[in-house]
Amino acid sequence: MPFHSHGFDGMKPITRANHPPRVRVPDDDRPLVAPIHQTVKFEFDDTAETLRLLHGEREGYWYSRSGNPTTRALELLLAELQGRDECIVTGSGVAAVSVSLLALLKQGDHVLCFVETYGPTRWLIRRLLQRFGVAHTMLSIEDHAGIERTLRERPTRLVWFESPTNPMLKIADVEFIVGAAHAHGALAVLDNTFAGFHTHGGFAVDLYVHSLTKYASGHGDVLGGAIIGSRELVGRMRHDANTLGPSLDPHAAFLIQRGMKTYHLRRDAQVRNAQHIAEALAGDARIARVHYPGLASHPGHALAARQMSDFGSIVTVDVAGTAAQATTFADSLSLFALTASLGSTESLVLSPPLLASRDFSAAEQAIAAVSETTVRLSIGVEDADDLVADLRAALDAAFG
Ligand code: PLP
Repeated sequence: MPFHSHGFDGMKPITRANHPPRVRVPDDDRPLVAPIHQTVKFEFDDTAETLRLLHGEREGYWYSRSGNPTTRALELLLAELQGRDECIVTGSGVAAVSVSLLALLKQGDHVLCFVETYGPTRWLIRRLLQRFGVAHTMLSIEDHAGIERTLRERPTRLVWFESPTNPMLKIADVEFIVGAAHAHGALAVLDNTFAGFHTHGGFAVDLYVHSLTKYASGHGDVLGGAIIGSRELVGRMRHDANTLGPSLDPHAAFLIQRGMKTYHLRRDAQVRNAQHIAEALAGDARIARVHYPGLASHPGHALAARQMSDFGSIVTVDVAGTAAQATTFADSLSLFALTASLGSTESLVLSPPLLASRDFSAAEQAIAAVSETTVRLSIGVEDADDLVADLRAALDAAFG
């Protein structure tokens, strides 16, 4: 009798391979780390029970595009950390941005947004939504009079903003913007990626959007996004999100959940390093200006101290030299990887040509204030003195 004919309940091996034995963990024997539910489908014993789930009459899961226990655990954690009760996680930060815009807007609506907004978000509002008949006004985040005037004159569905802004780290006045939006019946949506889940939760922001690719996952190995708000508002968006299909894969959710265990520790170390580096660079004559909200010289320092839990881990500098010297400085760094993204454990750098935006008019360029000598640093968890030594050596190379 061949070995494989035993123990398969009469099934052939190929059948058994597709209906493998199930292992149950007793209810009183819990794994400390939640397992990855790496499955697309869930099944009940019969149609009646399945229908009860689909009609919202019982708890459970059916299809992972719409819900999965591993992604759900991450949603509950992130909502709680941001101080809200509902969250939708997505396959990237940009997916969280696009789902938020598409779920909240309709033809004829008007959006107020800002020049200092993340590039792909600007593209979505300026180009994609325009094709669907959604209008916008784009101002400077610092133009409080313009914000008031626009909201007074133009019925507005939502105000979309970021703080600190990317890459110049301007500090938006969250209380003012949220108050102005609400006074005129608009929703206030804050892309809170730079500030983090531990910041801005006390304001009456309607919706927080995050790229989980950055501080949440923390290790630069997984993409993700999150939309966080009240159960009422986010609950209304969930059906659109499910049908747009930006779902986060359960394995990615597991990795982000693991990243979140060290989120506060990493962030603290990065912020400490960033403050040290900002102070060191501010004292170097080869740097014309350091943009870091933790420096008393930063125009938004007092506001940031009031409204943020920390000053963040991004330090942007204007090099006191030519465009070529600024690029040589970035290229000469050895501990800073020359690449996109931020919030990783390792330090990262973007040189001026990699920071340039091609979609700005001259007036918008002036507001954005990114110059041909601007370099953005994302500070990691390495030793601060090693990072400062690397920065000084790269300045030596550029100014040789
Ligand atoms: N929002 C901000 C402020 C960002 O900086 C980024 C990425 O850099 C995103 C959204 C998009 O995130 P992702 O790259 O995960 O799509």
